[in-house]
Amino acid sequence: MGYIKVDNQKVTKAIAEELKNICPFNAFEYVDEYLSINANCRICKLCVKKGPKGVCEFIDESKPKIDKQAYKGITVYMEQKDNICHPVGFELIGKAKEIKEKTNEKVYALLIGYQTEQMVESCLKYGVDGVFVYDDEAYKDFHIETYTNVIESFYKKHQVNVILFGSTPRGRSFAPRVAARLKTGLTADCTKLDMTEEGDLLQIRPAFGGNIMAKINTPNHRPQLATIRYKMFNKPEVIEPFGVVYHEDTKDINKEKHTTLVEVINKKTSHDISDAEVIIAVGRAFKKEKDLELIEPLRQKLNAVVACTRPLIENGWFPPQYQIGLSGRTVKPKLLINLGISGSVHFIEGMKESELIISVNNDEHCKLFDHSHYAIKGDIYEVIPKLNDLLTKMGVMKDV
Ligand SMILES: Cc1cc2nc3c(=O)[nH]c(=O)nc-3n(C[C@H](O)[C@H](O)[C@H](O)COP(=O)(O)OP(=O)(O)OC[C@H]3O[C@@H](n4cnc5c(N)ncnc54)[C@H](O)[C@@H]3O)c2cc1C
Repeated sequence: MGYIKVDNQKVTKAIAEELKNICPFNAFEYVDEYLSINANCRICKLCVKKGPKGVCEFIDESKPKIDKQAYKGITVYMEQKDNICHPVGFELIGKAKEIKEKTNEKVYALLIGYQTEQMVESCLKYGVDGVFVYDDEAYKDFHIETYTNVIESFYKKHQVNVILFGSTPRGRSFAPRVAARLKTGLTADCTKLDMTEEGDLLQIRPAFGGNIMAKINTPNHRPQLATIRYKMFNKPEVIEPFGVVYHEDTKDINKEKHTTLVEVINKKTSHDISDAEVIIAVGRAFKKEKDLELIEPLRQKLNAVVACTRPLIENGWFPPQYQIGLSGRTVKPKLLINLGISGSVHFIEGMKESELIISVNNDEHCKLFDHSHYAIKGDIYEVIPKLNDLLTKMGVMKDV
């Protein structure tokens, strides 16, 4: 593929007329002394071959513009707060170690902060080949301008192939700024990643309302950037560290800020369903909000967190942070019990990696059954009390 580029510096009215006469598709428009090419262009290249020399040029986009061998290394940006790394970073290290097999690249962690020693240790124990550390008091708190300057400086020096970010609220605002600064592409909210032998990162994510899985790559630009949700991948095994720590000099990196951080006010922490080990997920089968009381004994027995599908958020029955799915949270509990949920792709993408999935639905053809380890066909209003009785009889849990 490619396109025709016009050098307007060389275009006069006469040249514009000449090109208009050459083009069999009426693709040239000359307005306000500016010659442009419209959508009629079929890239027949007659204007290049027969037109005045040097005015029209064919830009061939199929030829690789970059030497892919010159860019090596999969880097995980380790988001941190109060010197504690967000666990999504370790999950991304795990995935990076898997996908590097095809290109035999090294896996790096990139840490920006102040007094980072403990975080460096935690990255090393997950088996990275190296940790790049930008440790400076100026980086104590996250600041998008200074942190972007650091990544720019890191990339200019090390020319890595890939930089991965967690799809956290911070990662979602930071990664696009980094992409713009480095003039490269970014795929947000990937659910899968893979690598070609040429080093192209395959960034896979649901698209068009979840109806297709899009496989996106960045063939002509480096670095390749992607954000990935928390709980999509597993943390790697902890191993004997072997990686190298690179303490980078920060003195020449621009630390100028156009905004000043006055104070950090931490939000009241609420239970994050992404971290729950046992979840009872409820869907539209519940006819009234009051009916949710039915699950309370079961919830207490299993010490579960209750989460829900999107319609229940829309009903105002739950705050948004309790929604599982593509536009909610991704969960990976040890046990997930789904009650009266149909299994739209939007919901399934947020829970399919759970360790044990039990679903209850009165429709034996419901899609969620295909993604469940155990399927119970029945009315939730009958099955829930039975499940509760069963647990009591088994004596596994104390009754409430
Ligand atoms: C862009 C986009 C993003 C979205 N993101 C999300 C998301 O992140 N999370 C999400 O959940 N949804 C999301 N949705 C909405 C999603 O498409 C579905 O509409 C939603 O998941 C359906 O919720 P549900 O399964 O509770 O309801 P329904 O689809 O109505 O399913 C209810 C199920 O309960 C069963 N049932 C009914 N009565 C009983 C009973 N008495 N006993 C047993 N079973 C019974 C029915 O057979 C049915 O299978 C999104 C939609 C769009 C367009």
